[in-house]
Amino acid sequence: MPLISPWRADFPALDALQRQGQTYLDSAATAQKPQALIDALAHYYANGAANVHRAQHLPGAMATQAFEDTRHKAGEWLNTGSSGQIVFTHGATSAFNLLAYGLEHLFRAGDEVVISALEHHANLLPWQQLAKRRELKLVVLPLTAEGVIDLDAAASLITSRTRLLAVSQLSNVLGTWQPIAQLVALARVQGALTVVDGAQGVVHGRHDVQALGCDFYVFSSHKLYGPDGVGVLFGRHQALAQLQHWQFGGEMVLQTDYHQASFRPAPLGFEAGTPPVAGVIGLGATLDYLNDVNQAAAAEHEAGLHELLRAGLMLREGVQLLGEPQVALASFVVEGVHNADLAHLLTEQGIAVRAGHHCAIPLISTLGLSGAVRVSLGMYNDAEDLERFFNALDQALEVLR
Ligand code: PLP
Repeated sequence: MPLISPWRADFPALDALQRQGQTYLDSAATAQKPQALIDALAHYYANGAANVHRAQHLPGAMATQAFEDTRHKAGEWLNTGSSGQIVFTHGATSAFNLLAYGLEHLFRAGDEVVISALEHHANLLPWQQLAKRRELKLVVLPLTAEGVIDLDAAASLITSRTRLLAVSQLSNVLGTWQPIAQLVALARVQGALTVVDGAQGVVHGRHDVQALGCDFYVFSSHKLYGPDGVGVLFGRHQALAQLQHWQFGGEMVLQTDYHQASFRPAPLGFEAGTPPVAGVIGLGATLDYLNDVNQAAAAEHEAGLHELLRAGLMLREGVQLLGEPQVALASFVVEGVHNADLAHLLTEQGIAVRAGHHCAIPLISTLGLSGAVRVSLGMYNDAEDLERFFNALDQALEVLR
């Protein structure tokens, strides 16, 4: 198979970027958008914007319908069935903060929160700061040499003191799938709540939150080819019922006088103020588009590209991969070359990749590094994109060594 993406033409920015001399290989940071999403946003703004859940007029009713349709579609995307609810936030980061504040009342001094050594700052700092506020112990699960959470270590570190487990499904630095179902099972036996950071995982393949067994699952729309400013938080009914309200204002209130108030349950009780209406409607259009894509073909295409990327990097002298990436991305360093210098020369040649700590400073430090270069793929990338990357890499390395 020549590894030409049949979906590339659906993403107009790819052509535009190419005209600007840019090869986009940074989809793990944010993805380009399909025409279907752009059309949905234009249609919404051109035909009458309206606030949701409060207006009785026709534009308001239509916006509310489209907004709630997306809630349904997001539930279908994660196969929530009737197990729980979708809450819209402003991104994955705001969903983790919602959880850390909303669940705070459940913790007592000495309780333990378990995360892993590879967490993105978004799934580290809210828990770290909660631990400081409540005098909790933050337990960090170690990784194997391949970059996978060590299940043996997890089995001894997840104990009856564990009140919550929060782990990433797919590492944004190492490109490794994590044993989520097993970790969740270990935590559930101890009666702990479980949070899965699906920010990267949700983009690659379809995942079933009922099969994973987690209480909460979080992702950002913008990495799943949708608009930015929208996050999705799935919560099981019993888990959502334990959340205390944390942001207050319009729409989340049931009744109030000047001194007292009562609040709505999830989902609306956790969507204070005007939500990102256009963004949520746009996410719905994106999910419709993705539902029409043959998922097996997309997975096969991405696997082919990833193998090309991995093999090409491993072939080059002095290149060292971080962990053993399985899908979507690969991070690397080059012996004797500073990642910032390399990134600079790649940028000069129009290669859009990410360099630095990838919002995972503790992981990068643990690996004894100051940073790394990350190449990440989307469904619209072709083998030619990687060819341009490797040519640029060879040129850069010739200059730097
Ligand atoms: N978790 C992971 C694994 C990520 O890769 C990212 C973003 O890079 C996030 C969380 C945070 O997502 P956002 O910045 O959209 O809130």
